[in-house]
Amino acid sequence: MPRPILATAHSQGLRHNLERARLSARDAKVWAVVKANAYGHGIERVFESFRAADGFALLDLAEAERIRALGWRGPILLLEGVFEARDLELCSRLDLWHTVHCDAQIDMLAAHKTHSAHRVFLKMNSGMNRLGFAPERFRAAWTRLSALPQVDEISLMTHFSDADGPRGIRHQMQTFEQAARDLPGDRSLANSAATLRHADEARGDWVRPGIMLYGSAPDFPAHDAEHWQLQPAMTLSTRLIGVQTLAAGDTVGYGSSFSADGPITIGIAAVGYADGYPRHCSTGTPVLVDGVRTRMVGRVSMDMITVDLTGVPSGRIGSEVTLWGRASGGALLSIDDVAQAAGTVGYELMCAVAPRVPFAVD
Ligand SMILES: *Cc1c(COP(=O)(O)O)cnc(C)c1O
Repeated sequence: MPRPILATAHSQGLRHNLERARLSARDAKVWAVVKANAYGHGIERVFESFRAADGFALLDLAEAERIRALGWRGPILLLEGVFEARDLELCSRLDLWHTVHCDAQIDMLAAHKTHSAHRVFLKMNSGMNRLGFAPERFRAAWTRLSALPQVDEISLMTHFSDADGPRGIRHQMQTFEQAARDLPGDRSLANSAATLRHADEARGDWVRPGIMLYGSAPDFPAHDAEHWQLQPAMTLSTRLIGVQTLAAGDTVGYGSSFSADGPITIGIAAVGYADGYPRHCSTGTPVLVDGVRTRMVGRVSMDMITVDLTGVPSGRIGSEVTLWGRASGGALLSIDDVAQAAGTVGYELMCAVAPRVPFAVD
């Protein structure tokens, strides 16, 4: 028998969350952002659930090919554009729309031989300072692009650094609107946080939700998934493979980082950092055993964790352990709660589920 660990992608949750994004987006079109192999869920596993999106947005050309191979004829957007000139051949062949964020990408386009002109998204650096043309250079880039026979329609995009936090998006919106004022073309501005929190200002023509589609609140802990009416899209579960009874003073695991105050029963669950469970979790990280919320104790090992069975009288070898997501009885443990205990965000946890973990879809 294989180890009992299993990741499950939930079609219903994915569909629900996409619908939730659509509700916030109102009449804007919705890119389903599926970069990083659909935030670790697997492009092939989420594809059917996201068919109702207006397009798929991602970075990796091989992932774009996989979406075309699934039969998708609609828009696909490369969020970072091309990395080298010959990527443009694939864009022509597969009809990929691509971001243009620097002069080198315009040079490549100008030298590209194609029968079909490309739809491009011209990116402005409105303050994030990663990719994009500076506001004062944006118009010149637009003018240069619009003169190229290789270019069909030009849309305008930018990306927010603080849509999830107190600084908000106003400063970037002002920069963007001023620099793009009378330029024609669709606008694409909002990630999940802006779609949920700043829809009125930043909706534009295309929203680009990612994390919310996967059931994680983009602005946790200010708001949680329940607040935004998002459903879990992934469950990571396993079973207890051992039980130990400890007396006061006994310790658990490497480094003896947990020591029992009094008699306590500990369950040993078949999951560890080699499965993608974060090693930074320590005593207190929430976990469900038989659907009952309890806590991890001690350190995360490569293949095992140890959990407190106080308050879980049913806990025994074979008991279901839910690391995040939905227990079979329906109890929920948000990936955001676990991420917080690990000092990180839901994004990182879902992207990090290891290849050795079998993956199902329900
Ligand atoms: C990843 C990404 C998104 C989606 O961001 P979320 O925070 O996951 O919603 C949107 N736009 C761009 C350019 C991205 O790279």
